[in-house]
Amino acid sequence: MKFVEEYRDPELGKKLLDRIHKRSRKHTRLMEFCGGHTVAIFKHGLRQLLPQNIEMLSGPGCPVCVTAAADLDKAIALGKLPDVIITSFGDMVRVPGSYSSLQKAKADGAEIRIVYSTQDALEIARDNPEKSVVFIGIGFETTAPTVAASILQAEQENIKNYYVLSLHKVCPPIMKAILDLGEVRLNGIICPGHVSVVIGSRPYQFLADDYRIACAVSGFEPVDILLAVDRLVEQIERDKPDVEIAYRRGVKEEGNIPALRLMDTVFEAGEANWRGIGVVPDSGLNIKKKYERFDVEKRFEIKTPPASEPKGCICGAVLRGVSTPLDCKLFRVKCTPESPVGPCMVSSEGSCATYYQYGEGYGR
Ligand code: SF4
Repeated sequence: MKFVEEYRDPELGKKLLDRIHKRSRKHTRLMEFCGGHTVAIFKHGLRQLLPQNIEMLSGPGCPVCVTAAADLDKAIALGKLPDVIITSFGDMVRVPGSYSSLQKAKADGAEIRIVYSTQDALEIARDNPEKSVVFIGIGFETTAPTVAASILQAEQENIKNYYVLSLHKVCPPIMKAILDLGEVRLNGIICPGHVSVVIGSRPYQFLADDYRIACAVSGFEPVDILLAVDRLVEQIERDKPDVEIAYRRGVKEEGNIPALRLMDTVFEAGEANWRGIGVVPDSGLNIKKKYERFDVEKRFEIKTPPASEPKGCICGAVLRGVSTPLDCKLFRVKCTPESPVGPCMVSSEGSCATYYQYGEGYGR
């Protein structure tokens, strides 16, 4: 398959690894921001193949995992209202909130439907005009344009019963927040591939300029990731941090302009609540006043008791890169993909699920 097979070429991978081993001298700590990269790195055993002086950390780039328990509680509370249909991507349904989950709410009679796109949610709204249909909008800049498009479509078709709970998050502000916390000292970041298809590489420039952190945008095949690490090592060894695109077939400096315009039409920056990190200014996307009739938080008053994290779960520390799943006493004992305690074990891109699936011995 073109644009896939060549990025799985073992010979190319070996050449890149040789170059990384030859060049890398300094102790180097890299973070892959995106959960998709974490999965790819573990699946292909890349941590073990890199030099010992390169330490890899996983970051907060799993949208399900970073959704705060308080926000999940809101979605569950909405599902309990009469004549409300909740539509959500599948992973979210199993994530435990403070008191319940959408899955448990469904078992208790709430109308929760798993959808694969916002188009499915719009279809449900068209078919059920007597009910309020709420789409749980999670995800980063990758998914926000499609949710923006659904709101514009609902307006165009005059669909009056379609609402969005916007829990969208944007990446650059949370990278800054994690660095400002000062808990992890990084030399380089493997910047998210899908997000960068939309926003481009320019929004990361502050990381190189202000924080002196090397940046490389990566795709998701093993050669993509090794190429990104190679670019990072080059920047770090020369002490010249910059932002490079190691995923040219998907990402341009300026991003995807039509997708950015869609987002900008419907959303504006606002604070967002991140699991394990808290409320971070400008790291979320709120629905603009012009489209507030689609904002479920304007339509319903949602009251929830104070939120709490699952007892013993250290997902917050895992998402900040401070701990790994191996530091959690519940990992593999009480917390498994079949019976997850926290969101990082629910999502297929969560660090805990990845460690579970590909082996905890990969924890270096
Ligand atoms: S192993 Fe389970 S309980 Fe522990 S941090 Fe991961 S998700 Fe939370």
